[in-house]
Amino acid sequence: MEKRIDGHTKLYALIGSPVGHSGSPAMYNYSFEKLGINSAYLAFDVPLEKTKEALDAFRAFHAGGFNVTMPCKTAVAQLVDRLSPAAELVGACNTVVIEKDGTMTGHMTDGTGFVRNLLEHGVDIKGKKIVLLGTGGAATAIAVQAALDGAAEIAIFNRKDEFYANGEKTVEKIRKAVPSIKKVWIEDLDNEEVLTRVIGESDILVNATRAGMSPLENVMPVPEKVLRPDLAVADVVYNPKETLLVRKAKEAGCKAAVGGSGMLLWQGVAAFELFTGQEMPVEEVKEKFFQ
Ligand code: NAD
Repeated sequence: MEKRIDGHTKLYALIGSPVGHSGSPAMYNYSFEKLGINSAYLAFDVPLEKTKEALDAFRAFHAGGFNVTMPCKTAVAQLVDRLSPAAELVGACNTVVIEKDGTMTGHMTDGTGFVRNLLEHGVDIKGKKIVLLGTGGAATAIAVQAALDGAAEIAIFNRKDEFYANGEKTVEKIRKAVPSIKKVWIEDLDNEEVLTRVIGESDILVNATRAGMSPLENVMPVPEKVLRPDLAVADVVYNPKETLLVRKAKEAGCKAAVGGSGMLLWQGVAAFELFTGQEMPVEEVKEKFFQ
């Protein structure tokens, strides 16, 4: 590292709170070093109320860009100069590229990371019927990207909790921005009869709720009976590495049973490319940080 950093080193960073657990600095710095890019990546613990100050600092330091995690994703989308179509629709961004003149463009790579990870597991969402569980941050990014990338139908299910209204908004936004989609709608996750029927008619089931993540690691977001061999199942939860849903999907012989860590990897790969114009050394990064 000391050999790499000099008076020209470009700064990249992660902001949000907490950030101490993040694997991003290791993944990006390894990739910079491997590709001989004179840049360094740090994580800064930034609470929501300090978001604007952080952006001003990045401009003042001529940083190359930054990633954003909770709770700053929505605030950053409101503070940058431009948004990508996906970030605009989601209303949040996780990656910001800073031009030489200080112009900031916000992107949302969670959705592209999810889609790319599915593709890596042999599942193409184009023309497919998708059941998406969840209406929070991850689910919204996935719904928007799936619609932009040509999914035929998206049925969103969520509990009638404080996130439900966000799902209703997402449905409206997608209908307006992507009129080519055949059908996008939302239903109560507790309506087991409709949930079971619709999963039975769908190609892909995605869990983008917190079910499966500690302390909900023993919670199955859907009844086990819906899992069948011609259904592809994907979870966004990456801790634990294999959620109860992914394990049950494997046991049921589902044609794909995909965990959330690949989405984490591929959203980082997409951000790295936006930052540097180069492809991250994915295989090495996967082996080193995602085993
Ligand atoms: P969020 O707080 O924005 O949304 C939480 C969602 O979970 C809501 O839809 C809520 O209704 C639902 N929910 C909460 N408890 C539930 C329960 N008991 N049963 C059913 N639904 C329940 O969260 P988020 O930021 O969207 O994160 C959701 C999950 O996705 C987390 O586990 C997070 O770690 C993971 N995530 C993964 C990636 C990745 O790259 N793999 C990226 C972002 C988030």
